Amino acid sequence: MRILVVEDEPRLAETLTQLLRDGGYEADTVEDGLRGLELAQKGTYGLLVLDVMLPGLDGFGVCRALREKGKSVPILMLTARTQVADKVAGLDCGADDYMTKPFAPEELLARVRALTRRQGESPAQELAFADVRLDAAAHTLSRGERSVQLSPKEFELLRLLMERAGSVCSKGMILERLWGGEPAEDNNVEAYVSFLRKKLFYLDARTTVVNLRKVGYRLEDGEKA
Ligand code: CA
Repeated sequence: MRILVVEDEPRLAETLTQLLRDGGYEADTVEDGLRGLELAQKGTYGLLVLDVMLPGLDGFGVCRALREKGKSVPILMLTARTQVADKVAGLDCGADDYMTKPFAPEELLARVRALTRRQGESPAQELAFADVRLDAAAHTLSRGERSVQLSPKEFELLRLLMERAGSVCSKGMILERLWGGEPAEDNNVEAYVSFLRKKLFYLDARTTVVNLRKVGYRLEDGEKA
């Protein structure tokens, strides 16, 4: 699972990132509230660790904006301030939990685990191949900080290719998965492969869909090819 840390104090951001990575999560960091909001909306993240005092837009603002847009990503607010008023404000704007700095590393990880469990997410909901990741809940394909939305058939096609990474998927297998054996022309497969390639290209991904003549399709890591 990927976690976004929005924290403008460089040392604390570094500490948080390392702590989360040690805990088995992938973590990205941004120091500006507006940039944090922009990234958090993409649906790539399973959790937000959000500071209150931030440049651009403060943590309350980020939180409120995400909830107003219907984004349900769990949010753990983090602040140096200890007033009850801040805690109430944080929870009122839609945060799921609240911690004050300084915090014990074990406690932060425990709360992260609790929040991600509550959301029912597990690493199995994310498939990865080479430099791209596929979010099975949000149907987004991402590479680094960039992500794109996949249509249901693009998603099914990529999921099939990822599940069978390293082997070839025949056109027959793809037709079966995407159209459930209903009559479909072979060139529909080609069309969806082409859509998928465009999205991989947009992400500037190394991952490519290779066409093996008369055999089928296979995902390949472009750098190894
Ligand atoms: Ca701050």
